[in-house]
Amino acid sequence: MLIGQRITVVGAGIGGLAAAIALAKRGAQVTVLERAPEIREVGAGLQISPNGSAVLDALGLGDALRASGVVNRALQLCDHRRGAPVLRMDLATYNAAGHPFVLIHRARLIELLAHGAREAGVEIRLGAEVHPSDSPLSEEMLRIGAEGLHSQMRATLNGPESAFFTGQAAWRAVIADDAPPESRVYMGPGRHLVTYPLGNGLRNIVAVEERHAWVDEGWSHPDDPENLRRAFAGFSPEVRGWLDKVSETHIWGLFRHPVAHTWHSDSWALLGDAAHPTLPFLAQGANMALEDAWVLADCLNALPADEALALYQARRRPRVVRAIETANGNARNFHLRNPLIRTAAHTALRIGGAVAPSAPLRRFDWLYGHDVTKG
Ligand SMILES: Cc1cc2nc3c(=O)[nH]c(=O)nc-3n(C[C@H](O)[C@H](O)[C@H](O)COP(=O)(O)OP(=O)(O)OC[C@H]3O[C@@H](n4cnc5c(N)ncnc54)[C@H](O)[C@@H]3O)c2cc1C
Repeated sequence: MLIGQRITVVGAGIGGLAAAIALAKRGAQVTVLERAPEIREVGAGLQISPNGSAVLDALGLGDALRASGVVNRALQLCDHRRGAPVLRMDLATYNAAGHPFVLIHRARLIELLAHGAREAGVEIRLGAEVHPSDSPLSEEMLRIGAEGLHSQMRATLNGPESAFFTGQAAWRAVIADDAPPESRVYMGPGRHLVTYPLGNGLRNIVAVEERHAWVDEGWSHPDDPENLRRAFAGFSPEVRGWLDKVSETHIWGLFRHPVAHTWHSDSWALLGDAAHPTLPFLAQGANMALEDAWVLADCLNALPADEALALYQARRRPRVVRAIETANGNARNFHLRNPLIRTAAHTALRIGGAVAPSAPLRRFDWLYGHDVTKG
């Protein structure tokens, strides 16, 4: 169905580039239009869970992913003050099953996707900002909106939306530090901090604080590292030691956006953050964008465009909504303020993890164990 069809992708982010490769490998002639003058990324890390690495494996980028990132051995929840583990979820079963849990620098992932796209024959045009009212390229069969959080195509298809400030702000920072190959979440009252290695002696830090003051949503607002250190001064000496090393940090406000009701028209389709921006508390934004990219290409390859686009939305929307609702709930669970409730909750996690070590992770089988490339 796709051989020789011309498809335009707006946005050379994770979702746009993955879709471009998946479509080009099925015979489409794909052009990616990216407004930035060069392919670049903010300095931050990404956790690519097995459901995301399944897509990268199927796109032929699995070896590059493994060579560029760090295979994550465990997800660990820790007490903020003592730093002691509350629950350790061993990822060996997932990693051994074929599609590993990988920690990687965003810039490196974008680089390997852009390389894969060019190898697959995709044309990437930089400095090309697209507006929904722009005319289609010649013989364009479909335009894919992969323009991220502030998608104009989402707004055109769905009308104005009601995003709201969640009362949370997040700092991100990367420091030079040799971290063990695991993700850790330090849970404290009204705040939490996530950290993991990125390879090449780098450690990624994302620190979330509840606050009343509104903070802008963009990812590139510099902040004084002292503000970050002050907000996490009550955390363990280990955490404070990492924060002492932060020389540059950025802060952004966390907003909750509704998942778009309409993901397509006759000639447009949305994917990734353009269709469903998510809070970062389950680390699934990029993973969902990768899944969307595969499913969209799969549907378009199998069916006429109108049926394909309807099936794409039907296959994707319920899963994305479930992932986003799970992420929304995590903030509440990480930030328990009442010390008695927090101690009781952490004790329950500790005992549960000791009695049935594999049970906590099995709750995420629907997420990590799902492989969209298997149909
Ligand atoms: C600090 C942080 C940590 C995160 N951690 C994780 C994680 O561990 N795991 C995970 O799965 N997700 C994570 N996420 C979420 C993830 O980064 C996003 O969900 C993902 O990048 C979305 O990909 P995308 O391709 O949809 O959009 P984007 O990556 O935002 O790409 C959109 C692209 O479109 C371009 N563009 C925009 N408008 C136009 C236009 N009009 N014309 C042309 N080009 C345009 C932009 O320049 C950009 O290149 C994290 C997010 C943050 C902020």
